[in-house]
Amino acid sequence: MASKLRPHAGIAGAGVLGRLLAWRLAHAGWRVSVVDPAPDALAPARGSLFHAPHAAGFTAAGMLSPLAELDQAEPDVAALGWRSLDLWQAIARRLPARADAPQGLVRRQDSLLLAHPSDLGAAQRVLARLEAARAQDPAWPAAQPLDAEALQALEPALAPRLWGWRLPGEGQVLGPALLEALAADAPGVTWHWGRRVSEVSPHRLTLDEGQTLTVDLAIDARGLGARPENPDQAHTMSPSDPRPTLRGVRGEVVWLHAPGVPLRRPLRLLHPRHRVYLVPRPGDLVLLGASELDSEDRSPVSLRSAVELMAAAHSVIPELAEARIVHLEANLRPALPDHRPWVQHAPGWLAINGLFRHGWLLAPALVEQALTGLGLPTLAHHQEAAHA
Ligand SMILES: Cc1cc2nc3c(=O)[nH]c(=O)nc-3n(C[C@H](O)[C@H](O)[C@H](O)COP(=O)(O)OP(=O)(O)OC[C@H]3O[C@@H](n4cnc5c(N)ncnc54)[C@H](O)[C@@H]3O)c2cc1C
Repeated sequence: MASKLRPHAGIAGAGVLGRLLAWRLAHAGWRVSVVDPAPDALAPARGSLFHAPHAAGFTAAGMLSPLAELDQAEPDVAALGWRSLDLWQAIARRLPARADAPQGLVRRQDSLLLAHPSDLGAAQRVLARLEAARAQDPAWPAAQPLDAEALQALEPALAPRLWGWRLPGEGQVLGPALLEALAADAPGVTWHWGRRVSEVSPHRLTLDEGQTLTVDLAIDARGLGARPENPDQAHTMSPSDPRPTLRGVRGEVVWLHAPGVPLRRPLRLLHPRHRVYLVPRPGDLVLLGASELDSEDRSPVSLRSAVELMAAAHSVIPELAEARIVHLEANLRPALPDHRPWVQHAPGWLAINGLFRHGWLLAPALVEQALTGLGLPTLAHHQEAAHA
């Protein structure tokens, strides 16, 4: 054991999962060491075309859309998303206010699902999946159809003739700011930036130069970095549980600066080729995403993806024609073949991976589930202790 007094966790990876685990454990009184190859805790600089590989959580739009994600996710996965929405709100309440998030790090009101008349079939398919989930669990909110007048009242910049549905209770996080905030508010965490973990085994992180860190709990939160570097090795994430190959799914986003274009909530357009969304960010920014390509290419955004995403955005909000393109970014989502999240633990070892396109949506619920499985206090207990 690393310590007889305060338990010590070693976390490989400082993405969404790694930082949230570090934050939770630090506030529960653990000593925590986090290792990540990134140079520091900050979001990568905007505006440059080439980035060193960095956490997918920085690139993500941060949509918390359990209803809309039923398009792809199973109802049990989406149900974890509902749980996470409450948890993110509780976490955000505990984090210090930030100037770059004047309306808070987590927002929850609703989102809109939109379709052009020619794509109504796609909309009906998503709505049917939502209704099927509601048939199993009537607690799920219903998508509310909106007529043209109601749509314009909610989002005055929308193009006419769109079909729309309000998805109540959905939300969004300001991903880059929230990642920085979690790292800044984790007392007693030792961050080892610029270092890579080659193996996570019970009670031990092995770093790239062969150095080892002996801990009470070794946590693998490396996302795609959990794959063995040698392709001849079996693609396992733990010695005891052989799992199929992790793969990266490329996603590209475009940041627009659009002063004067009102956008109040996340919009999702049902589009034949992409799952297009437009997400408002502070500073008159609109994040437009995202392609989903079965490719592990980390090179800059392609012209084709950029054109298709921007054409779709312009078709939803014509006023975006004069928006300025301020940043383009590509990254890889860590995915397993079944596109489901994967949580495993053994004495002295925990691994979470495969969050695919739902990492922000699922992380808090999965972290709570994993920590409870290890006999650690839940966030609710932790909050009661903080208020005692
Ligand atoms: C374009 C795009 C849009 C997205 N939009 C959304 C969205 O709207 N909503 C949503 O819920 N999700 C979204 N996602 C998905 C979400 O970003 C991911 O599911 C989530 O970031 C996965 O979290 P993670 O912590 O497992 O991995 P990551 O966030 O990728 O973090 C992994 C960390 O491990 C580190 N690492 C890698 N190798 C090593 C190593 N050898 N040793 C130590 N550390 C290592 C990396 O540097 C990184 O910091 C999107 C993703 C993309 C790419």
